[in-house]
Formats: sequence, structure tokens, C-alpha cells
Amino acid sequence: MQKSGFIALIGRPNTGKSTLMNRICGKKIAIVSHIPQTTRNTIKGIYTKDDCQAVFLDTPGLHESARAYNKILNKQAEGAIEEADMVLYLLDISRPFGKEEEVILEMLKKQKKPIHVAYNKVDIKDNHVVQNSMIYKEKLKELPQVKEHYISALKDHNVDEMVEDLCAELPEHPFLYPEDMTTDQALEFLVSETIREKAMLSVHKEIPHSIQVEVQDIDDETNPKVVHVYADLLVERESQKGILIGKGGSMLVKIGKKAREELEGMFGRKVYLELSVKVQKGWKVGR
Ligand code: GDP
Ligand code: MG
Repeated sequence: MQKSGFIALIGRPNTGKSTLMNRICGKKIAIVSHIPQTTRNTIKGIYTKDDCQAVFLDTPGLHESARAYNKILNKQAEGAIEEADMVLYLLDISRPFGKEEEVILEMLKKQKKPIHVAYNKVDIKDNHVVQNSMIYKEKLKELPQVKEHYISALKDHNVDEMVEDLCAELPEHPFLYPEDMTTDQALEFLVSETIREKAMLSVHKEIPHSIQVEVQDIDDETNPKVVHVYADLLVERESQKGILIGKGGSMLVKIGKKAREELEGMFGRKVYLELSVKVQKGWKVGR
């Protein structure tokens, strides 16, 4: 019987959420973090092993400053918790209990989902760490029932064991995503669907159902500030190619602009989108 579900990952900035996700789900998933894949929240990473699939939901880092803004962030975090089957609350034991933790605790007190708490950075050894951990432990008593884990996301200590415990508590449910779907593939799929949608909306009367998109590359490493996306629009006939390109390229520019704007929202970064149109006879066959 398969188990799968959503786990809301919460914790203030710099507790090690990204590091932990990279550890659990493999490298190169940071880019996924801005993609709204669920109704209200963003998926941070998908972990699939044996009969378990855990989908981690990202929540915005909670800041104690900037009060009005804080409220919005809190609402988003609450949304992730609401949508999730359980909560993974990450603590940084190298830093003392802070106001942000109060905010998170208040939020967690209001709901009844299983809560796992991970004390992260146990590889750091000094007196403050012991003292901080004791204070965290004391404060967490305010929550009805929590499972505790002592981990180092950076040094890969106790992470596998924790994930096993998380999986054990997920509901019995068929996998939410194909089990061979790596986060990279998920990303490519989302990018190609975004481009295809914009193309279809722009020319739907002239070319119904005949546009396919093939993403050649998503490069977020060459320039960390800009995501470069290279994609081909595939059509079946020469005449359709003409329609997609438009007069003097105007249609392609229009599609590219719409797609780029949406992709920038997804990535939370500037996007450079390079689109080409290609005729590929019979692309529907074998797909
Ligand atoms: P996020 O803001 O919660 O996503 O935190 P990051 O994953 O970006 O980590 C913040 C900092 O903490 C980085 O410098 C990480 O290298 C460091 N860090 C994360 N996990 C650990 C850990 O287990 N031990 C130590 N010593 N540092 C860690
Ligand atoms: Mg991060």
C-alpha cells in the first residue's frame, strides 16, 4: 500500500530548510521552490522511495520585523499548514529562541496535524547549543504532541531516519506524482505547459491542439540572477509555423512575453526565454 502526502516545512530563515531539502530530495531543487504547484502553496521538493512519497511544501521565512508584511507571510505559512498532512518544523539550535519562533508556536497550537520537530545543526558543538536546545525543548511543551529529531542537514546526520519516521505517518494514498518524476522533470513539465498555454491562447483559433513544446534547457547556474530557458515550439505543418511566428515575428514575441512574465513569477527571478518554432511531422505519434 502506497503512502503519500504533503509535509509543510516551516522554520525561520537560515535554519537550514534549503540544505535539508537538497539532502532529502537530491541536488538542484532550489529552483523549484518558487513554483506554485498546489492550490495555494509552493512545492519545495518531492521525495519518493519504495512505497512512500513525501511532497514538501515551502513556507515563507517568518520575519519578526515589518509587521504588516509579517501578517501576509504568516497567512501564507498558515495556508501551507492547512493544505499539508503534517508539519516539519525546523529549528536552528545554534541560535537562541526568537520572536519568530513564538509566531510559529502560536500557529502550530491552533491545528491538530502531526508535528515533527527537527533540531538542526547538531554538528555544532558549544555551550550555547546545549542551552538553546533546552529552551526550545521547554517551549515546545506548549504543543500537544510532537516527535523530535536531532539532525544535521549539512553533515547528513540522522536525516534518513527522520524521513522514514515522516513516511510512516503519511496517509495511505496512491502517489501524487509519477514515481520516476525527478524535480527537474517536474520543472521542465511546468515550464513547457506554461509556454504551451500561452501559445495556445494566442493562436487557438488558427492552430487548435497542434502545438507541442520541447524544453531544451533550463539554465539557472550560469547566471544566478537570471534563469535561461530554451524551448522549441513544435508544429506539424509549415503553414502553422508561419502563424506562430507571425508578421515580422510579432506573434512569437507576444507568446514569449506572456510566457516569460509567468515564468518570472514562478521562479521569482528574471527569465530569459529563447523560443524557436520547428516543424516536426507527426510529433503526436509515439508521445
Ligand atoms: P534556509 O534559509 O532555512 O533555507 O537555510 P539554508 O539551508 O540556506 O541554510 C542556512 C545556513 O545554515 C547555510 O550557511 C547552511 O550551510 C547552514 N546549515 C544548514 N544546515 C546545517 C547543519 O546541519 N549544520 C551546520 N553547521 N550548518 C548548517
Ligand atoms: Mg532557503
